[in-house]
Amino acid sequence: MMYEDDIRRIALINAYQHEGKADLKSVMGKVMAEIPDLRRDPRSAREMVSRIVDEVNSMSAYEIRETVETRYTSSIRKEKKVEEHRLPDLEGVNGPVVMRMAPSPSGPLHIGHTRMAILNDEYVKRYGGELILRIEDTNPKNIDPDAYHMIPEDLEWLGVNVTKIVIQSDRFDLYYAEAKKLMENGHMYVCTCPREEFKKRKLESIPCKDRDNPPETNLELFDKMIDGTIKEGDAVAVVKTDLKHPNPSVRDWIAFRIIEARHPRVDDKYRVYPMMSFSVAVDDHYLGLTHVLRGKDQLTNTDKQRYIFDYNGWKKPYYYHYGMIKFPGIKLKTSLMKKGILSGQYEGWSDIRLGTVRAFAKRGYRPETFRRYWINSGLREIDAIFSIEIFDSINREIVDPRAYRFSFVKDPVPVRIEGMPNISAKLPLHPTHPEYGFREYEVKGSVYIASRDFAAISEGERIRLKDLCYIRKKGNGIIYDGVEMTEKTKIINWCPEGSRDFSVLKPDGSKDSGLIEPKSSGYRGIAQLERYGYVNFADGDDLAYFTHP
Ligand SMILES: [Zn+2]
Repeated sequence: MMYEDDIRRIALINAYQHEGKADLKSVMGKVMAEIPDLRRDPRSAREMVSRIVDEVNSMSAYEIRETVETRYTSSIRKEKKVEEHRLPDLEGVNGPVVMRMAPSPSGPLHIGHTRMAILNDEYVKRYGGELILRIEDTNPKNIDPDAYHMIPEDLEWLGVNVTKIVIQSDRFDLYYAEAKKLMENGHMYVCTCPREEFKKRKLESIPCKDRDNPPETNLELFDKMIDGTIKEGDAVAVVKTDLKHPNPSVRDWIAFRIIEARHPRVDDKYRVYPMMSFSVAVDDHYLGLTHVLRGKDQLTNTDKQRYIFDYNGWKKPYYYHYGMIKFPGIKLKTSLMKKGILSGQYEGWSDIRLGTVRAFAKRGYRPETFRRYWINSGLREIDAIFSIEIFDSINREIVDPRAYRFSFVKDPVPVRIEGMPNISAKLPLHPTHPEYGFREYEVKGSVYIASRDFAAISEGERIRLKDLCYIRKKGNGIIYDGVEMTEKTKIINWCPEGSRDFSVLKPDGSKDSGLIEPKSSGYRGIAQLERYGYVNFADGDDLAYFTHP
């Protein structure tokens, strides 16, 4: 029937947000607001809504959660979005914006890249328009061919909505044409001086012998660079700026150089490669960028690029230079990560010791965590230090409501509890979501506890085995001490007979091993190992990856 699917979606999301039970009244209200057609016949609408709400409420909480999270991710994201901080508005917005992120394909994205990806995405979501992923592959020596697909995959995982992908190695003809145009107008020249001499003269604000060559000479030399007559290292093409510019690197800067190397994507088709500042300026113009967000480390490049805009009479985009972020203790250097992967030190780009987006994903961090963190940290110009504690607390808040609880006992010791009657233990899978169900075990006087917990029990001390009973140490033995609650007892975790071997792999490369309770078998996703921390079951029953405390 018409609208049934819409009503079911509204009811499911409502149930999802209210611990597995949809509320007829609020679903009815939402249906009437969202589907005006139904207002004409409220009575039959109410009948239909009531029937569907009953149907949804007969599903298990687990089923509801699975259905909503797989089918309606975008609506729950919208509904749940808590924007504690709002990004400042951009200047000069009239109509849709065009923005970009421009990674080089040396590897997949790491956490440092996620900031630009998310901030750009947030603005394009706010104003509408285009978000271009521009892959800057103009250094053939720094390319990992897999990055061409890994980068878009990482962005998709992050929920970043790329509207167009542009690859710079497709655009060399455009860069050459723009260079020739600038040579014709006297704004670029080909320098054949030894590089050291060119550098030295620049520092002294003295023009080299080639600076005032006529356009014909420059065009001819540029063609010789392109056709291979001139060899690598023997010439560069230079943008004429201001030899007295206070920043020497802005003075006559190199725009093209010859690299005799096989490009992983276009092979040996080109030998004259644009420098980043040149291709970026040309692309920012031709792709119609309205706003550019970049790090403060790019200020000099922005300065250099202005010349290309000014010589061509192009309108500059609005530039924002945000402060740099330090990521203490996180492995981000792509070349080092790659070296480690090739040498077998790391398993691959998703090795949890690395700072890649895929490593964070494997550990159980959610895309929304990245988004919230970067929105909160904003576009500020001051430098900052990434706070893993804040990042973790955001992630914890997101994953906790659906993280099942299991007991994990590290370095287990078997414990025989003298005088313990048989007890049917019934522990909730989640302390505030009883509808997820329970872990039920018949305990017959024997459990496992962590050797560290065991060693810490002092003579006579009353200890509570979580949701089971009390015990007391007596001599070398452990005796049963009832189920009556008393104040201030230490609580420790235990695992029943039949628990299986289990390990947690940690980002520092270490591993905790022990036993995990049977009910965790087949579970996938993030769980909280009680009194231990959150882990992600991503690769089977025998191990999980440590997320955070
Ligand atoms: Zn020269």
